[in-house]
Amino acid sequence: MNSSSNTKTLLFWLSLVFLGILLWKLVSANGDRARGDEPSYSEFIAKVDAGDIKEVVFYLSPNSYEVQGEYARPANRKFHLTVPKEAAPTLMGQLREKGVPIKVTGIRSGDWVPILLNAAPLILLVGFCLFLMRQMQSRGRAALGRLGTTRSGIGYDLHRLEEGRPLIVGGIELPFHKGPVGHSDGDVLAHAVCDALLGAAGLGDIGTHFPDSDPKWKGANSLLFLEHAKKLLEEKKLAIEHVDAVVILEKPKLGPHFPKMREALAKSLGVPVEKIHLKAKTNEGVDAVGRGEAIAAHAVATLVSR
Ligand SMILES: [Zn+2]
Repeated sequence: MNSSSNTKTLLFWLSLVFLGILLWKLVSANGDRARGDEPSYSEFIAKVDAGDIKEVVFYLSPNSYEVQGEYARPANRKFHLTVPKEAAPTLMGQLREKGVPIKVTGIRSGDWVPILLNAAPLILLVGFCLFLMRQMQSRGRAALGRLGTTRSGIGYDLHRLEEGRPLIVGGIELPFHKGPVGHSDGDVLAHAVCDALLGAAGLGDIGTHFPDSDPKWKGANSLLFLEHAKKLLEEKKLAIEHVDAVVILEKPKLGPHFPKMREALAKSLGVPVEKIHLKAKTNEGVDAVGRGEAIAAHAVATLVSR
C-alpha cells in the first residue's frame, strides 16, 4: 500500500470518527435538555430568592457563564442556563447571601468534545491539504516515472587501414583504395555505436558479445552487432533516445555519405533517422589516423528506461 492510499484510508476513518462524535454529541445534548430544567434568568433569580437552589457550578467561557446546579425544591431536580458575563458577579452575590455553595471552574474536563468539534473543520482542512499535496507529489513521481531514467554510454574504436580492403563505415561501402583490417568488416562507426549502447545499458562491450575469436563473426556485417545490441536493450526495457558519433578519417570525405549511413544505422537500431547524428573529422595529418593509416570513431548513446 503506498503513502497516498494510506492517507486516504486515514482521512476516511478520521471523517467517520468526527461524524460519530457529532452524532453522539447531538444525541447527548438532547438528552441533557430532557433531563434538566432550563429556566430563564428571571425565573432562576426568583428561585434563588425563594431559597430553592441547593448548589451551583459556574463554568467559565469567554463571553458567558454556563450555570448548572440542583434545586433544593423540587429535590434532585437539575437545571442549567447561560448567563451573560456581566450578570455573573451580582448573581454570585445573591447566591452567597442565600448560603448556596458555589463552585467556579474553568472549562469542563469533558469539554474536549466541543473543542474537537470546533477544531474539526480546521483539522479536516489541514488533512485535505496534506492529501492534495500527497496526490500532487505522487502524480509528479508518476510523470517522472513515465519519462524514465536517462543513461548514457560512450564508445570508441580504431582500425588500421590496408590497401585493397573494402572501406565500410556505418554499414556503407565507400569507394576507396584502402579499408580497415578486422575480424569482422571493421566498421569503426558501427563498433563505436555498439559499445556506446552496451555501455549505457551496462552490458559490457562488443568484445564480450561478439568475440573476435569466434569464427561466426569473421567478415561479419557489423550492422548485425547493432541489431543484436538493440535486442539486448529491449530485454532490459531500454529505448534509444539519441546517438551522436564522430568518425576521424583523413580520406575520403565522409559527409556526402552520411545520409545513407544514418539510414543504415537507424534501420539496424529500429529508430527514426533523426535519432542518429554523425560528424566527420580529419586528424590534421597527425599520427596514424592523420597519415591515413587508420580510421577511428567516437560515439555517445543516450537511453531511456521504459
Ligand atoms: Zn572495431
